[in-house]
Amino acid sequence: MTGRPDFAEGARLGVLTAQPLDRVLDYRAPPGGCSVGDFVEAPLGPRRVLGVVWGEGQGDFDAAKLRPVARVLDAAPMRDEMRLFLGRAADYTLTPLPAMLRLATRAPGLGDGPAMQKVYRRGTGAPERATAARARVLEVLDAYGGLAFTLGELAAQAGVSHSVIKGLVKQGVVLEEDTPRDRPYPRLDPARPGVALSPDQAAAAGRLRTGVAAGGFGVTLLKGVTGSGKTEVYLEAVAACLRQGRQALVLLPEIALTAEFLSRVEARFGARPAEWHSGVTLTERRRCWRMVGEGGAQLVVGARSALFLPFRDLGLVVVDEEHDSSYKQEEGVFYNARDMAVLRASICGAQVVLASATPSLESWANAEAGKYQRLDLAARFGAAELPEMRAIDLRAEDLPPGRWISPSLQSAVAARIAAGEQALLFLNRRGYAPVTVCRACGHQIGCAHCDARMVEHRFLKRLVCHQCGETRPIPETCPSCAVEGKLAPVGPGVERLAEEAAALFPEARLAVLSSDLFGSARALKEQIEAIAGGEADLIIGTQLVAKGHNFPKLTLVGAIDADLGLQGSDLRAAERTFQLMRQVAGRAGREGGQEGLALLQTCQPEHPVIRAILTGDEEGFWRAEAAERRAAGMPPYGRMAGIILSAGAAQPAFALGTELARNDAALRRVGAQVFGPAPAPIARIRGRHRVRMLVKADKGAPLQAALKDWLKGVKLTGDMRLQIDIDPQSF
Ligand code: ADP
Ligand code: ZN
Repeated sequence: MTGRPDFAEGARLGVLTAQPLDRVLDYRAPPGGCSVGDFVEAPLGPRRVLGVVWGEGQGDFDAAKLRPVARVLDAAPMRDEMRLFLGRAADYTLTPLPAMLRLATRAPGLGDGPAMQKVYRRGTGAPERATAARARVLEVLDAYGGLAFTLGELAAQAGVSHSVIKGLVKQGVVLEEDTPRDRPYPRLDPARPGVALSPDQAAAAGRLRTGVAAGGFGVTLLKGVTGSGKTEVYLEAVAACLRQGRQALVLLPEIALTAEFLSRVEARFGARPAEWHSGVTLTERRRCWRMVGEGGAQLVVGARSALFLPFRDLGLVVVDEEHDSSYKQEEGVFYNARDMAVLRASICGAQVVLASATPSLESWANAEAGKYQRLDLAARFGAAELPEMRAIDLRAEDLPPGRWISPSLQSAVAARIAAGEQALLFLNRRGYAPVTVCRACGHQIGCAHCDARMVEHRFLKRLVCHQCGETRPIPETCPSCAVEGKLAPVGPGVERLAEEAAALFPEARLAVLSSDLFGSARALKEQIEAIAGGEADLIIGTQLVAKGHNFPKLTLVGAIDADLGLQGSDLRAAERTFQLMRQVAGRAGREGGQEGLALLQTCQPEHPVIRAILTGDEEGFWRAEAAERRAAGMPPYGRMAGIILSAGAAQPAFALGTELARNDAALRRVGAQVFGPAPAPIARIRGRHRVRMLVKADKGAPLQAALKDWLKGVKLTGDMRLQIDIDPQSF
């Protein structure tokens, strides 16, 4: 700490903890004092909890009873910028501040200080007695020129015991050094040249670089079909940001995409960036959190929660595949990472790049309104636009029950495989069959805790609930009528589709890509690499394949059920189907030369969404969709919030909802309307019944203030919970 602390010893101050309390707590400053932003350990009842000095105390506590903060932690204090961000994010999402703080302190051992660890690197000379094991150790150290390993890492890499390495240390052939555990990430070199950009790529990159160089806040929608070079272009913005000595963050919607992306960053900048997502080890997460705060990480590649890392000087945030629904967190704190990225950037004067082939209607509208700069990469690099798209009218195909690959699709696939190319069959349904029905009594097996059917997974040999993850063995007898041997799978999942494909194409090498088939990110990565390397002829995949993987030999995509997403009452269904089908079609013919083709199996080829997908009239589609939303006052032309009440029983939730809906004066004052209560889109999950109300207001209405006013007196009794979802995904 430098200079005089904000609070001298004994002074009253407010500490924000991550405890589920809706307020900042009063304490006294510890010996030596402390300052706003300091991470502290504060006594709370019999425990000590992590907190941040937030400001003046509230003053409504008996001064005599105030306890002093236990200690100030050895961690860089939280910056004003971060406190502002958490405060604004809390206000926007109507989340208690402590819950926001929890998002910002998800680093293990936060206050432990810079622990030391021993690392090993190459010394000089050769071992006194050369053994195969000793040679392997030196081989590893030489191969990674100069890089230091921990004992465990080196032993594992070389396949030797620890004692072999210790022996080499005694001889001075290997050096043992003490370094802080949280060592900085290797330097990325933004001066290394990137690929030679095409003229419109270069123009877009130039605009982004100008924005970054200007140093202020701004948002750009970078739109281009898959393969048009969006990544190459935004990496130029990253380079510009790094050259300025500022930090950059790239958000990806799917952990499975990070491996490929890390390799690209390494190829571009000569080293791997920091990584932040749930698949990263605790030690690495700790290192990342500290290094981001201390400036030892120039670039972070991560999941949505990386937005809450304590960046020292964030200059650029890229949200790749910005339309992806996985950016919306709908547990604990409800937030959309795309919107929070814009908020965070506006506070710290950073540029935001929203990249997508199929932007969200929100971003499209913001660009239309001139709030965001829009840059279009027209052509796919070195090749045509999207592949040719055609419908297969299932009504005209001779498709027996229990089969999903139409004769037309079958012959198209066969032709591609015969030509040595790859084909992809896309079905956005995990498992073997979505429904298991008893042919004796008609009973469908459902989850005991959720309003969902159990999905048969043959690969796991179990029934799985896709809502709560509960699994159980596939029963022999019907749980309802107890008749044996009558349970039958109904409808297709990717596993069943793979079975059909195996029968139709016995010679083809099949690869199934579905998130639940892989025990680890590494296994998935290996499978993806194998496919990219041409080790499969026919790929069967779920949504996982729609997201940005490069399969150069892939020239045909068949969508098994293009109508799937159009069912249901979700107003975003059209937008989602349009996006997904275009993303999937974009997988075909990524590399020039071979002609890409996408075939959509549909029962309603004349449906406006299917027609828009086929004709590729994108702007027309968006305009029509925008007009509809505007007429209905729906987002992004109006504002929405979901209020979810949940409890062990449905009746009390409905009763409370009905009472709230009746007493809606606070909402009516600002012209807002409440709809419901109705069963939530997922009406029961993990044994809790969920009831939802939707509040709709005009674009400019003070929605959050009105909601606060409306809900302020609510008493939640028993196990009732109330959650607020600003800007819900489905409405
Ligand atoms: P997107 O992010 O839009 O899907 P990418 O940036 O991943 O597109 O580009 C698709 C492929 O084309 C990548 O393999 C990329 O390296 C390559 N590519 C794009 N632009 C160029 C270029 N100007 N020169 C060479 N290769 C390029
Ligand atoms: Zn369940």
